[in-house]
Amino acid sequence: MLTNAPRGTKDIYGSYMNDWKKVEESVNKICTSFGFNEIRTPIFEHTELFARGVGETTDIVQKEMYSFMDKGDRNITLKPEGTAGVVRAYLERKMYADAQPTKLFYLTPAFRYERPQAGRYRQFHQFGVELFGSDKPSADAEVIALAANLLNDLGITNVKLHVNSLGGPECRKKYNNVLKEFLSKHIDELCPTCLERYEKNPLRILDCKNEKCQALLKDAPLAVDTLDSECKEHFEELLRLLDAMEIEYVVDPWIVRGLDYYTRTVFEFISNDIGAQGTVCGGGRYDKLVEECGGSPTPAVGFAAGIERLIMTIEAINGASQHEPKRDIYLGYVGENAKKTTFALINELRRNNISAETDLMSRSVKAQMKYANKIGAKYSAIIGDNELEENSIRIKNMETREQTDLSIQEIVKFMKDNIK
Ligand code: ATP
Ligand code: MG
Repeated sequence: MLTNAPRGTKDIYGSYMNDWKKVEESVNKICTSFGFNEIRTPIFEHTELFARGVGETTDIVQKEMYSFMDKGDRNITLKPEGTAGVVRAYLERKMYADAQPTKLFYLTPAFRYERPQAGRYRQFHQFGVELFGSDKPSADAEVIALAANLLNDLGITNVKLHVNSLGGPECRKKYNNVLKEFLSKHIDELCPTCLERYEKNPLRILDCKNEKCQALLKDAPLAVDTLDSECKEHFEELLRLLDAMEIEYVVDPWIVRGLDYYTRTVFEFISNDIGAQGTVCGGGRYDKLVEECGGSPTPAVGFAAGIERLIMTIEAINGASQHEPKRDIYLGYVGENAKKTTFALINELRRNNISAETDLMSRSVKAQMKYANKIGAKYSAIIGDNELEENSIRIKNMETREQTDLSIQEIVKFMKDNIK
């Protein structure tokens, strides 16, 4: 037990951490370019928020939440996704009083009690954006463009954008009835979960992964064909804006998204390279959510992407990152006097933003040089009694093998001139 992490969790370190940082840097850069500001909400919230905000009939709320009573008898849940907390913060911090739209992004751990498999963990991480206050298709286009730019910046070219419209609440009600009527002839053949969905939220049957249910749905009526004229125009304007930005997409009537609160636009970026868990990013419009969470009616649109799945996709293209952060210099020493001088010097180097390492293991000169090689130091030098006496050190470029003799005082300047 002591040396086994809980099932479905992952330690992030080593070369995986390099890919992780690359994703974080891209996220910060792209969100800044779109004018989205970062928000960090708590890891846990009142369970009620997710029950309402994610939806009672979702798998997340029904089966997957990490919920517990805290010592003050409050029902608490570790966040299973990022949106509900951001909506709560938007309302509690009265962000609606600021210039609209409010454009936020987050990067957060998320927790779901699911069966772990490739690309599916119990603690995973989500990057997401939320845009509050605009019901216009241009807002949908803005968040889709942000996702597309991010994937592009990460070199993820093997994904396809699938878009669909579920229509507003009225269309959805109408469609649910049409779908129910179609399925009423096959009701005995539905899986137990879909039987429940049939009563509560028939649209979600389209999302079922059961092959028998999928087969039944082959000729089912589609939401996108039952839109009223306003919803249809909204969807068409979105598609025109995507065309204008040269963002490629396919209209895919089977995209419905797992969460209850979506209205109108839904979309996913899907990769064929990472197996069954191919959705790297999914989102859409949820004009009813803010109201559901206790606010006044406020349109909103956003998406979430799984960081682990983004990295899987990057690694499927480029292989695992080989790159380790390089040290600029290994400065070794022999003897007690040299040790003090060396420690003073590396401290000064570090204060000048030069990454420097020295010996912490009392190694021989030979072993120190071996270590310098191993950590990929760009330069190395060893200080001993002779170097101190003559105030001269020989610094070696580990790549070109070129050697330079310097006085001890010159080393910081030399490194500043030669690094970066
Ligand atoms: P799936 O159909 O794969 O279960 P979902 O519909 O539950 O996905 P969302 O709730 O939309 O997914 O979450 C957004 C993104 O978070 C997903 O597209 C995926 O990249 C990622 N994600 C969801 N669940 C997990 C998990 N258990 N482990 C890792 N990443 C996940
Ligand atoms: Mg899921």
